[in-house]
Amino acid sequence: MRPIQDALPLLQQPRKIFITTHHKPDGDAIGSMQGLALYLRLKGHKVTAVSPGEIPDFLNWMPGVAAMLNYEEHQNQALQALKECDLIICVDFNDFNRTKYLELHLAAATQPKILIDHHLFPKPVWDYGISIPEKSSTGEMVYDLINLMGDNELIDLDIAACLYTGLMTDTGSFKFPVTSASAHAMAADLKSKGLDHTRIHEEVYDSWTEGRMRFLGYVLIEKMEIFHKYHAGLITLSRKDLNLFNAQSGDTEGLVNYPLSISGIKFATLITERSDEVKLSFRSKGNFDVSAFARQYFDGGGHFNASGGRTKTTFPETIVYFKKILSDIHAQIK
Ligand code: 5GP
Ligand code: MN
Repeated sequence: MRPIQDALPLLQQPRKIFITTHHKPDGDAIGSMQGLALYLRLKGHKVTAVSPGEIPDFLNWMPGVAAMLNYEEHQNQALQALKECDLIICVDFNDFNRTKYLELHLAAATQPKILIDHHLFPKPVWDYGISIPEKSSTGEMVYDLINLMGDNELIDLDIAACLYTGLMTDTGSFKFPVTSASAHAMAADLKSKGLDHTRIHEEVYDSWTEGRMRFLGYVLIEKMEIFHKYHAGLITLSRKDLNLFNAQSGDTEGLVNYPLSISGIKFATLITERSDEVKLSFRSKGNFDVSAFARQYFDGGGHFNASGGRTKTTFPETIVYFKKILSDIHAQIK
């Protein structure tokens, strides 16, 4: 992969650009994609932003989201844009398989592909790009790119809101260890431009339905197991649990973090039964590398303290398998 600087000449004249991000997008995925899309449009490019799937409700307020295509709903339009584009930019993921149904189309596309991402171990399938696992968020990396282009003054309130959402959500509101001085400096710069950080925090975190709140209560009472001697917590959600509360995409967001608020718990796992696979989310505090754990046992990856993976076995089998591994490796969690 050549450095992103080498790709900048491609942006010297108006281009048709296809931007995408990972399936089940989070605040950083949509925030970095939208922030970049709005910026590139200001520079005169024709940009199509495509989410591989549904966008959670708590991100629907984001500027420009109405123009974004959900691949699962607008497949033909998205594939047409992919076919016609001059350039493909991928943000907040580093393996085509994270885009689910778009995977094969991205792999087959012959246009130059650019990566902007902060996950560990990028696949060698991009022509140009930037991959920095130490970066707080892809939102911060897009901010850096805009500065590299000498365009800081083009960051308007809409772009700022998008990029800040990526920064805020991926740093756990500025509390995770990835929250560097540069992350705070970016927040300070956006604030000086007039960013309303309170409103953005409320849009993302205080926009629950009553049902989601009651679902959380149910999950914490009925579905969470704490293994104090392993410093670990586990939440398991079957289709039946999700259906019982008619849980929407986004309603499980953040659930995995709750066990980590219990004193002594350093490793938290959420196992969710989906229609086509069993999905696992991992979070840790301190020195337990959940990215390596996800890669080794669950066909996944991610960051040191936040990762995910999957199995193709059944939901009950996955729980048994997970508990066996936990009892085997628990000495590593401290
Ligand atoms: P989440 O638990 O929120 O789905 O994911 C946590 C982090 O791990 C995110 O940064 C996400 O991009 C990454 N991640 C989640 N699932 C996978 C996976 O299956 N493979 C890889 N490589 N990364 C994942
Ligand atoms: Mn991210």
